[in-house]
Amino acid sequence: MEWLFFLLPLAALSGWLAARNHYKKRYAKQSSPFNPDYFKGLNYLLNEQPDKAIDVFIRLLEVNSETVETHLALANLFRKRGETDRAIRIHQNLIARPTLTQQQRNLALAELGLDYMNAGVLDRAEHLFLELLNSPSPPFQAFEQLLRIYEQEKDWPKAIEMAKKIQAQGKKNLGPVISQFYCELAEKTSQNSTSTVLELIKHAHANDPNCVRATLIEANVHINANKFRKALKFLLHIEQQNYLYLPESLPLLLKCYQQLNKLDAFESWLHALLKRHPNMTSARIMLADVIQQQYGGQKAQDYLHQQLQEHPSIEGLHTLISLGEPSNPILVPLIQGITTTLVRRGHRYTCPHCGFSGKKLHWHCPGCKRWGTIRPTEIHLSALETLLEPSHE
Ligand SMILES: [Zn+2]
Repeated sequence: MEWLFFLLPLAALSGWLAARNHYKKRYAKQSSPFNPDYFKGLNYLLNEQPDKAIDVFIRLLEVNSETVETHLALANLFRKRGETDRAIRIHQNLIARPTLTQQQRNLALAELGLDYMNAGVLDRAEHLFLELLNSPSPPFQAFEQLLRIYEQEKDWPKAIEMAKKIQAQGKKNLGPVISQFYCELAEKTSQNSTSTVLELIKHAHANDPNCVRATLIEANVHINANKFRKALKFLLHIEQQNYLYLPESLPLLLKCYQQLNKLDAFESWLHALLKRHPNMTSARIMLADVIQQQYGGQKAQDYLHQQLQEHPSIEGLHTLISLGEPSNPILVPLIQGITTTLVRRGHRYTCPHCGFSGKKLHWHCPGCKRWGTIRPTEIHLSALETLLEPSHE
């Protein structure tokens, strides 16, 4: 069947050749419409020998300024179909021609780099794109692909350098992405080298003042050093940075307020927060937890019971059942079993960009490879239907 697919580019090519010959016929003396090599190539194709067919086409279609685009288009078709080695051969053939202009050569080199990226030979791709950066007018693609390579290799210092070069060209604002790279470096640095971590966080915030991840790292540094008041200052700032990430800060806030013996202050802050963001289930559950710690289980149950009427959520229901006495030895364990399964199966984090969801907060989306798009989500009862569908992870 493979040769059938091969006919696609062949059809495009033959159409082009036919048109070319049509014009030739009109202006030149009558000659055979096709080069005999064309039929040889076709024969190879019909015998399912696409590689020999490529050789014929490469020979047949001499490289000049008019045919460069045809070569590039044909190679592109191969790459799109995953036949990277064939794309590479066509691109290498192009590059070897001395007749190409600098711009055409750069274009072919960039395309060859993309072939290498597709084939997973990142070191070759890197080498090629770096060579392109040294050319008189390096294509923008070279910068972007190098950034992708360094991201894949998790070479954060080089990724930062490349992102800054792209940023300097004024085509893209990569501040939030550069900030994530500094966070990656900070997370890799031992928590004992506090000053290094804080220095990296400073760079992260200089590139994106609203980087929640950097704030969380910074707060953790202070918590580990028992500087809870200082940690609080940073954690309370997250609501202004991006309130969607507040659920991530709640366990840290609880720890700080507990250590400072100020649970009552946390309680009033949570009440106020829920007035500003009434749908924040995680804050409601945290408040129930604080109420339980301050006034006992019954008060926490009363609070959640009343809250769930207006703001139904699976996590809320689950907490309410866990708080309750097993007064009904048959019903309560049964419902608890269901809510436990639902909470466990629910994905806590989703990427609104590509729909990826999971249980862990990835700052770099595994689905669409964007930075900082994945967000904490709360499971409301309305989402029950999706949860009841078979889980596929
Ligand atoms: Zn995504």
